[in-house]
Amino acid sequence: MAALPLVGTLRPALPPVMPHQAFDVGGSAREPERLPAAGAAAAAAADDNGVDAFDEKILPDQVSGTIENLKVLLTRLSTQGAVWPQVIKDEWELERLEETDSKFKRCLCDNSIIRRCYLKNKKNGNRAVLGDRCLTLLANEAGVEEFRNVGKIFRSFKRVCGHPDDSVSPEYADYLEKRKIWGPREAGFYKSNRLKDKLSDRQKPFKAKLNKIARFALAGAQKGVNVVSDSVGVSANPALIQEAFDQKVINSNALRFYMDVWQKEDGVLSEKQRHYKLILNDNILKAWAAKKLRV
Ligand SMILES: [Zn+2]
Repeated sequence: MAALPLVGTLRPALPPVMPHQAFDVGGSAREPERLPAAGAAAAAAADDNGVDAFDEKILPDQVSGTIENLKVLLTRLSTQGAVWPQVIKDEWELERLEETDSKFKRCLCDNSIIRRCYLKNKKNGNRAVLGDRCLTLLANEAGVEEFRNVGKIFRSFKRVCGHPDDSVSPEYADYLEKRKIWGPREAGFYKSNRLKDKLSDRQKPFKAKLNKIARFALAGAQKGVNVVSDSVGVSANPALIQEAFDQKVINSNALRFYMDVWQKEDGVLSEKQRHYKLILNDNILKAWAAKKLRV
């Protein structure tokens, strides 16, 4: 381990990264000195996203070592020479959040998680999935404001799912605005009216529409399948669209298109766009029925 430059700034007593905990980046946590160049690592990580890379549960007495291991793993997925904690601020961004009860994906630390935070490395395209608790611990230590809020966002999501008329938190509203899930008009309306008890007859349905989008935006891919199965004309949600792309059911053009329009009502889409969405829904459902798409 001493020869591994990536962990040079960490404590020497760092526990070794267990092979089963590492992303299968070119294949070997046992031989970190032979990690491939960033481009190859990106391709490998994009290929498997950590799916089925883990088969053992982490033991409770390993938890204190978990955070140290996570630092090593995230640093390894970063560009060469990157050092903690600067690397999490400089290279990693939050792609999206998802809450699901599927056991399909695990945190980078190997724990089974339902609240997933998808991170992307801005420099080499690598991706990593972390649980909200692990990411919050890392963010607090490294002082990354964006990642610190994931717990608040998930809580707001849960709240609005159970109480459809409640307002989402400013943190969740920011999340939706930043990802253009709500447009500027929607986000502006929400900021002005979030705390108002009395809304006009025109404002009420508008807020209800925005809350409906908020209830679907972080839902897992299974929820998306359920909704599209019920009515093929409606939209899938981000989790399902991303899974469909990751599992090669739809291509990158389709991914971009669908992520742009999923929250839009059919009335604002062109005939061509509506038609394309139907084709994508059909492909997704067929792949799911044929077990070529796991959610
Ligand atoms: Zn974790």
